[in-house]
Amino acid sequence: MRRGLRTWISATLLVCLLAGLAGCGAEAAEPAEEAARYDAVDFVMGTVVSITIYTTGEDVTGDIPPLLSGLEDQWISWRKEGSELARINANAGTPTALSDQMAAYIEKALAVAKDSGGAFDPTLRDLSALWDFESGNAVVPPEAEIAALLPYVGYEKISLDGSTVLLPEGTGIDLGAIGKGFGCDAIQAYLEARPEITGALINIGGSSTITYGTKDDGQPWKIAVQDPRDPTGYLGALTLTGTWHVSTSGDYDRYFEKDGVRYHHILDPQTGYPAGSGLMSVTVISDGGGVSDALSTACFVLGPEASMALLEQYGAEAIFVDVNKNVTVTDGIRAQFELTAADYRMV
Ligand code: AMP
Ligand code: MG
Repeated sequence: MRRGLRTWISATLLVCLLAGLAGCGAEAAEPAEEAARYDAVDFVMGTVVSITIYTTGEDVTGDIPPLLSGLEDQWISWRKEGSELARINANAGTPTALSDQMAAYIEKALAVAKDSGGAFDPTLRDLSALWDFESGNAVVPPEAEIAALLPYVGYEKISLDGSTVLLPEGTGIDLGAIGKGFGCDAIQAYLEARPEITGALINIGGSSTITYGTKDDGQPWKIAVQDPRDPTGYLGALTLTGTWHVSTSGDYDRYFEKDGVRYHHILDPQTGYPAGSGLMSVTVISDGGGVSDALSTACFVLGPEASMALLEQYGAEAIFVDVNKNVTVTDGIRAQFELTAADYRMV
């Protein structure tokens, strides 16, 4: 857990650093409009959130953390009593009426689950709880306990009919692999409602980032992609113009090692064990936060070849890093990614 926090903080600092470096150029460039830059760092959704906003109005960086904690508390956290998701899970076995927002969240999660052939699956709640990667002292669960939970896993067991959802008893929804992305979507809606905000770069937990609008100097956004084996270093940098959602899933986020095997938090829903696609990380770039987040998890499970059709379907691009330090970048983003870590190679 401590290692995870270090990773988040260092990734967040990297994003800040790159934003800061680019910001230095802004001073020389004399912005046409008087947009001022405001920065803040906070701790929400169990992680570090870094916020940079360019605006001609007042400093609104303080609005972002409550927006994210509200999203968790009101809707998507299965751990927080009183959230709509906790109520849905508690009602498993009985049809449950949903708010429009929750129906939209579940619909989006089910769409990616279906399109990825179940590689992303929002019903892994109890299996993830069994592995308990968050605790910091996780062990490999007994095979029989994993086998006993597998029958309750499967997105197709969720039936969503308009604004009513029905889960079989024993099945629980976990939106952990898409929640930070929904957070970025909510941030985008907030920013779009405020014309005085001209640009923003916001990162949740080092793993989900939104770039919005433009910087005051008109320079593109620079997003650091983390080195999966060096929490303080980075693999390279993405150069993006305008509004994008960048999400990374990695085997370095929450994991432990036992007998030389790395057990990480991204599970293969088919087996109940950590996905063994030979990857260390996948970064997805798309125009949707929930989409990028869910796809990064799905692509991590699928591996590069099997991910290509899925990425194309969503108009998304990706950077895959395998355990041999080979980096595969999809054609549409290749020119915007610069690999800088010396011990990795592009393939
Ligand atoms: P992410 O870091 O976005 O890839 O999300 C990983 C988190 O989502 C884990 O900590 C689990 O709570 C959950 N999860 C693990 N494997 C999957 C999967 N294959 N599909 C959906 N959620 C998953
Ligand atoms: Mg994800």
